[in-house]
Amino acid sequence: MSEGIRFFAAGRSKNTQIQKWENIDMRVGMGYDVHKLVEGRDLILGGVRIEHDKGLLGHSDADVVVHAIMDALLGAAALRDIGRHFPDTDPQYKGISSITLLKHVGKLLEEKMYVIENIDATIIAQKPKLLPYIDEMIHNVAEALQLSEDQVNIKATTEEGLGFTGSQEGISAHAVCSVSYALDLMGDDRLQGQNCGGCRGCAAKTEQ
Ligand SMILES: [Zn+2]
Repeated sequence: MSEGIRFFAAGRSKNTQIQKWENIDMRVGMGYDVHKLVEGRDLILGGVRIEHDKGLLGHSDADVVVHAIMDALLGAAALRDIGRHFPDTDPQYKGISSITLLKHVGKLLEEKMYVIENIDATIIAQKPKLLPYIDEMIHNVAEALQLSEDQVNIKATTEEGLGFTGSQEGISAHAVCSVSYALDLMGDDRLQGQNCGGCRGCAAKTEQ
């Protein structure tokens, strides 16, 4: 995706012109993931190594919240799921940082001309307390996707001792996101008179 599209998306919430946009294709996606807590593994959440006596088991670094975010993004773009893009039978993904995979997912959305609007994720873990790490997680996810930090929200909760998260057998995460179709954004009045390569927006203007 060009810098122009990023700038366009980032600036639009501050611009009242948004009221004139009638052709925005807004989509949403959701993701859910669970990993088992075991001894002898690092606990990585949102790209942050967290002090704990157990870590999450998985082929990659098992960063459950980043996995949920990736599935939400892929879902919004109708790109299936992370299992399809990064199979856990492929040795190249063994132990890989999920933040690296997230960057790749960001590029896949760019290739389909989707602009990420926002991401909201919830980590469900009985222990440890995650609040001290949340800011760094948000920073890591925003940086990987070249978003501003106010486009990314991550929060943590417990299930009050109930279920597999309550018994500390595992940690789960949910995520939702919204994305816009970038070619629709390029049809905005602010691009009138500019050459944007014969995109759908310009063609619509020509017909008027
Ligand atoms: Zn996972």
